[in-house]
Amino acid sequence: MKIGDTRTITIAGAGLAGSMLAVLLSRKGYCVELFERNPDPRGADAAAGRSINLALAERGRHALRSAGLLEEVDRYTIPMRGRMVHGVDGQLELHPYGKDESEVIWSTHRARLNRSMLDAAAASERVKLYFDHALTGVDWNAQKLVFVDPNGHQRHQHGFEVLIGADGAGSPVRGAIAQVEDIGLSEEMLDHGYRELTISPDPQGGYQLDPNALHIWPRGGFMLIALPNANGSFTATLFLANDGHPGFAELKDWPAQQAFMQAWFPDAMPLLGSLEADFRENPVGLLGTIRCRQWHYRGQAVLLGDAAHAIVPFHGQGMNAAFEDCLEFMRCLEDNERDWQALFEEFQGRRIEHANAIADMALENYKEMRETVLDPRFALRKALEHELERRHPRRFVPRYSLVMFHRLPYAEVYRRGQIQDRLLDLLMRGVDQLKAVDFKLAAELVAAELEELPA
Ligand code: FAD
Repeated sequence: MKIGDTRTITIAGAGLAGSMLAVLLSRKGYCVELFERNPDPRGADAAAGRSINLALAERGRHALRSAGLLEEVDRYTIPMRGRMVHGVDGQLELHPYGKDESEVIWSTHRARLNRSMLDAAAASERVKLYFDHALTGVDWNAQKLVFVDPNGHQRHQHGFEVLIGADGAGSPVRGAIAQVEDIGLSEEMLDHGYRELTISPDPQGGYQLDPNALHIWPRGGFMLIALPNANGSFTATLFLANDGHPGFAELKDWPAQQAFMQAWFPDAMPLLGSLEADFRENPVGLLGTIRCRQWHYRGQAVLLGDAAHAIVPFHGQGMNAAFEDCLEFMRCLEDNERDWQALFEEFQGRRIEHANAIADMALENYKEMRETVLDPRFALRKALEHELERRHPRRFVPRYSLVMFHRLPYAEVYRRGQIQDRLLDLLMRGVDQLKAVDFKLAAELVAAELEELPA
């Protein structure tokens, strides 16, 4: 089917990618229908739910800017200028993220962000929203979606012209494609999971920790992190092996949970006021990486966001990458003289290597967050990275900064990161302080090995 002949674009999943894409499409004049299995999150009950936050970086901010939503979202995002590392002895050390105070990442409220995008989508008469619509399958021959009502009793069907699967890591659209075509699906589950905990505001409603930092308690094989919310609270997340020692499986009851937390996170204990309830009520979440060789099916459907490439959360990039997908999809749509199959192929071609690269970098970053930050040479390495960036800003930018503060495609970031790592290893050999680094050699190596970054 020709793109220009299409009356309505159907999106499954009104999460972060689905609602962003609905806004972008409607602003370009497309009619959209958006199906979501959950109730409308803008309802009163949903608004009272727990605070769960996400790190928003420049890639995601660029998409919000393009959708005209950044100003609103910034009303409830909090800048975090670095990692505040908490030692077991309670010592604090701030590791700045960027070269200066302008380079920060943003803690944003997941549900509010979703609501902002849904409000913007709903404000357009071109967008129709359908909540409580759980997709259970796709009839590809009849071009129909099969839904089940919230009680799980009633089934009904709905025709579509073109389908976008923005239905998350467990994507039913992906499942329906995989039933009829080999899409080279691989799911690598991590042997670590996560549990969300809460740090409430102090009795005056203020923050119990510095709000302008991402707090991290690295403990080698596991870690606790906490990101600020606008209401004075922090959402904390414990990342730990599922089995083994220590592992979630052995923390069966409150005495075991309390003893573990007290031993490893003593300074956090007084802050985690609802710890017992959090352990009881919040399930252990699974983490994994999903990759597919093919993201689309016969010009009828395409996947994006977590549905196409779910990644582990250790670089804070899943949503950012999903938003980048949406912008890339819109770029592909600029040529609407062709058919959907051609667009899907182009979209996948432009994105898949970058999705794979951020998946790899996210896995590598888990080791850095929970373990490498404890190495005294890590601080020297970071200081050297920032010094090289100061001296050669057009050529040497730390990999972390390229991911979080720039929009260079992820695969290119990965490639440059490997070169930079090699240079850092070389320059740090036998060196124990910054002033002992041979900066003349560094300048030669940087000029020879790293081409100038695009403006
Ligand atoms: P989702 O946001 O999961 O949306 C999918 C939507 O589809 C949902 O609304 C769902 O209800 C709906 N849906 C599912 N099944 C059906 C169905 N059968 N019928 C209809 N609708 C359906 N990313 C960051 O960028 N920064 C972070 O700091 C960060 N932290 C994270 C921390 C954790 C612990 C985890 C697990 C993830 C984190 N991520 C982070 C990743 C981020 O959450 C995802 O990458 C992002 O939500 C992907 O958006 P999406 O729209 O593709 O999927």
